[in-house]
Amino acid sequence: MSSSAEKIRLVGVVGSGQMGNGIAQVAASFGFDVVMTDISETAVQKGLQTISGSLDRLIKKATITEDQKRQVLSRIKTSVGASGLKDADIVIEAATENLDLKLKIFAELDQVAKPSAILASNTSSISITKIASVTKRPTQVVGMHFMNPVPLMKLVEGIRGLQTSDETFQATKAMAEKMEKVFVESVKDMPGFIVNRILMPMINEAVYTLHEGIASVESIDNAMKLGTNQPMGPLTLADFIGLDTCLAIMNVLHDGLGDSKYRPCPLLTKYVEAGWLGRKSGRGFYKY
Ligand code: NAD
Repeated sequence: MSSSAEKIRLVGVVGSGQMGNGIAQVAASFGFDVVMTDISETAVQKGLQTISGSLDRLIKKATITEDQKRQVLSRIKTSVGASGLKDADIVIEAATENLDLKLKIFAELDQVAKPSAILASNTSSISITKIASVTKRPTQVVGMHFMNPVPLMKLVEGIRGLQTSDETFQATKAMAEKMEKVFVESVKDMPGFIVNRILMPMINEAVYTLHEGIASVESIDNAMKLGTNQPMGPLTLADFIGLDTCLAIMNVLHDGLGDSKYRPCPLLTKYVEAGWLGRKSGRGFYKY
């Protein structure tokens, strides 16, 4: 039997990177207890530091008080590896965008998490049905796709795998709404769901525009910002998302939909090969 929304108290988060620590921060800010995990102590500590810095910015803006910051941090425990997730009512996986890695993580989560726990993935593009197939609880596996940065962005895209139960889906929706997010359903579990099916080809096309020498990084971003009223240009956004993540999503679209229009731009591949992953590595289309 799946957990209903009211029964969700302890939230497990797999991955303490930019999405994982954002999810942990928001869940703890809305009263959930959180266990945030990663593969090393260094990674979880880095995640905690990011949360602390993000809460400090909210204090500066007078959105929260020092005392509220302490309360939020006191609700977040950390653990290296999956063993710390055994009591979680829902586990939200936000590890690197890689199919094999996610299959391995979900097979392990299925062993570790209690039978009633919901297993959610924050994947940007990978099939929820496929992820669910490595568990013995496919009705309790769901896509819960937060946007970056999690504390600021309102949307959570909800994705039903082929076997996701209504109960699981409704509990996930209720949890997202408890965190004051707007939950939008992607009716079909298809590569990229809604947001990345539309956003990533645009970003990839911006990289092609650069690759083909049509315009500079700054011109592409300025033209799209001022010409289409986007708050930031596509190359700035790609740097925010992470170029490795953008490339992984394009590969999922290309493989899953089989249309050459989704082929990743070779320049995007080159940047990832060079370790230019965007903001998180200090260099992408811009230097940080
Ligand atoms: P990131 O590189 O910032 O963080 C990934 C983290 O996962 C790292 O800390 C890494 O050490 C950890 N990790 C790797 N293997 C692990 C394992 N076996 N167990 C636990 N942790 C492990 O990446 P991110 O941007 O936070 O992306 C995470 C997920 O969120 C991806 O699936 C991505 O597609 C999705 N997502 C990203 C964005 C975005 O804008 N970056 C937006 C929505 C969704």
